Amino acid sequence: MNIHEYQAKALLRSYGAPVSDGRPVLRAEEAKTAAGEMDGPLWVVKAQIHAGGRGKGHFKEAEAGEKGGVRLAKSVEEAASLAKQMLGRTLVTHQTGPAGKQVNRIYIEDGSDIARELYLAVLVDRQTSRISFVCSTEGGMDIEEVAANRPEKILSFSVDPASGLSDFHGRRIAFALGLEGNQVKQCVGLIKTLYKLFVEKDMEMLEINPLIVGTDGNLKCLDAKMGFDGNAIYRHPDIAALRDETEEDPKELAASKFDLNYIALDGEIGCMVNGAGLAMATMDIIKLYGAEPANFLDVGGGATKEKVTEAFKIITSDPNVKGILVNIFGGIMRCDIIAEGIIAAVKEVGLQVPLVVRLEGTNVEKGKEIIQNSGLDVIAADDLKDGAQKIVKAVKG
Ligand code: GDP
Ligand code: MG
Repeated sequence: MNIHEYQAKALLRSYGAPVSDGRPVLRAEEAKTAAGEMDGPLWVVKAQIHAGGRGKGHFKEAEAGEKGGVRLAKSVEEAASLAKQMLGRTLVTHQTGPAGKQVNRIYIEDGSDIARELYLAVLVDRQTSRISFVCSTEGGMDIEEVAANRPEKILSFSVDPASGLSDFHGRRIAFALGLEGNQVKQCVGLIKTLYKLFVEKDMEMLEINPLIVGTDGNLKCLDAKMGFDGNAIYRHPDIAALRDETEEDPKELAASKFDLNYIALDGEIGCMVNGAGLAMATMDIIKLYGAEPANFLDVGGGATKEKVTEAFKIITSDPNVKGILVNIFGGIMRCDIIAEGIIAAVKEVGLQVPLVVRLEGTNVEKGKEIIQNSGLDVIAADDLKDGAQKIVKAVKG
């Protein structure tokens, strides 16, 4: 689960990390008061969306010369007017994809004078199963380019959980970032704070880009992105409360309400499968035969008819879906339950695209019978290969 920059900064502040003073703004009327609570002479007006690259992004239907989602203002009035301009608009960045994201919240911040922009991130490294730090002197808006073309500019190392974090780690980062004197001490403190926050809140990712050295010589977190382990959110009601459902894919949101493991992808074949391994194998074989999956979906072992119905509705709500492949191996899951769910869903939402069903395992005969007797226009498949070939053929001709 991801949160907004202003929420991440509030968390950083509560742990004692250096951030600027700022105010979130949800309605245009609040903008002037919010900006007026800071002294200036510089204000930063920042669109709050769950995507990076806002500074270099652009608004849809932008006026000529209009800049992106991070803007500097020289007066309270200018800050308020920029906030009003951004609210409700759609911001497109390299992370949002061409559809962009609607800006429903703004953060107005006390502007900083920047001497250097650095990069700092904490994440769970799946290769070492450890928490890793990543840092670079080349912070700011082009870290992807640095990673691709100048990887030697990036330092990364993991922390041994047995011995934990020590000052040495912080100093290593400070020296890699070219910090001096008191900045080294500040960096050691910041690294400790970030590590503590990361562990205590079960984070997956924490990115500060840029971490700045101000013209006053002090370190400050100027941008913050945080992602939390969804499986651990139940332990953190304070974090759960920060969830902004409007930022999530509506299909994934609906799926999460029914406890379905669904991830939207951008292919054309919707998949309904039980078991994560079989779901991945199904996506692989769809690709093997020349098409792309529209989603990952594991309906789980003990799915009910309602859950299957819901899953089917979510798949068909995706306009990219040109065909559906149901691939069920009934172990704990019974094939007749799946069959009933499909029929109930089709009755409710109709079926505009070809549907291939492959059932195997517990109650398979009963399941096939239910589908045959339903009068539905279903293409039956015998095995995984047959199912994949049939759906790709049905979609691609
Ligand atoms: P992102 O584009 O979504 O990563 O948004 P950031 O919060 O990182 O802001 C983008 C860029 O705006 C930063 O890299 C800075 O160059 C600039 N910026 C952000 N805040 C300030 C500020 O307080 N003062 C100045 N001078 N520039 C800022
Ligand atoms: Mg940034």
